[in-house]
Amino acid sequence: MEIAQTPLGEVQAKIGKMCKIARREAKDVTLIAVSKTHPAERIVPLLEEGQRVFGENRVQEAQDKWPALRAQYPDVELHLIGQLQSNKAEDAVELFDCIHGLDRASLLKALAKAMDKTGRKVPCFIQVNIGAEEQKGGCAIADVPDLLAKAREAGIPVAGLMCLPPAGIEPAPFFALLHKIAQDNGLAGLSMGMSGDYETAVQLGATHVRVGTALFGARGG
Ligand SMILES: *Cc1c(COP(=O)(O)O)cnc(C)c1O
Repeated sequence: MEIAQTPLGEVQAKIGKMCKIARREAKDVTLIAVSKTHPAERIVPLLEEGQRVFGENRVQEAQDKWPALRAQYPDVELHLIGQLQSNKAEDAVELFDCIHGLDRASLLKALAKAMDKTGRKVPCFIQVNIGAEEQKGGCAIADVPDLLAKAREAGIPVAGLMCLPPAGIEPAPFFALLHKIAQDNGLAGLSMGMSGDYETAVQLGATHVRVGTALFGARGG
């Protein structure tokens, strides 16, 4: 089968360029290829080009797609980037290697229980509602220290902070703010930046960028 080339090299080159400008090492930025809504046959070309870290936002969809792909590419690392419901915590902990949507204390108990039961300590990012938007998920900035303390108490490894800045506004100040909050709380991981703004995010310290459209094209198109 002829495998079409993907934009992976281009995206990697842009990340590399931004790392150079920011005097960072490219190996310190993890590119998460967000494959949500895309079928396995769209994902395989990226796997063939060597991409191993992928992001999905729905537990059920990931359960349908990834076990078969993982049988072929066992070293895949799967990140859950969407909202997680408590009743899906065990499925999520079984399937994912990292969870980016830890946004409320009520999720901690379910996650801790799932990690105990499965014996898998899955690193989590605390999602911060960085623009204080009413309709958006994420923990309020003021509540980060408390949620972090509670997560640690529950034995959940916290990798860092994650955010989705408000749409239609320059994202850089929000990325800088997330970086500052992470530093204040002694956290190293920063999950920020999507197709439209990952270069800016890398300049401002992102350790994980979540890129869908720039790698796969438009969703539902
Ligand atoms: C879908 C999604 C992305 C990827 O968005 P693109 O603009 O397609 O790169 C990143 N982060 C989260 C949380 C998402 O839901």
